[in-house]
Amino acid sequence: MCDYKNIMEDMVEQVYDKIKDQLDCCQCQCCRNDIIAYALNQLPPHYVVSHEGKLYAKMYLMKEQHSMDITSALTKGAMLVREHPRH
Ligand SMILES: [Zn+2]
Repeated sequence: MCDYKNIMEDMVEQVYDKIKDQLDCCQCQCCRNDIIAYALNQLPPHYVVSHEGKLYAKMYLMKEQHSMDITSALTKGAMLVREHPRH
């Protein structure tokens, strides 16, 4: 199967799951999606063809600057959601 995919979505979800306990924010599905959507709007999309996705994501996140960018976008999103929870 050859399909394209924005792997930034997977990476943001991965980082979210790693740091969600430090975000000090509601972790229900709705708030989680709000935070992730906010972060994704801050970050550049990264499209790859799906079979390359896993490897590419691994390499991308190995760069500390990249994980830091994602972490800070998620942190900002969490701050906004904490102030205006939608649930
Ligand atoms: Zn919530």
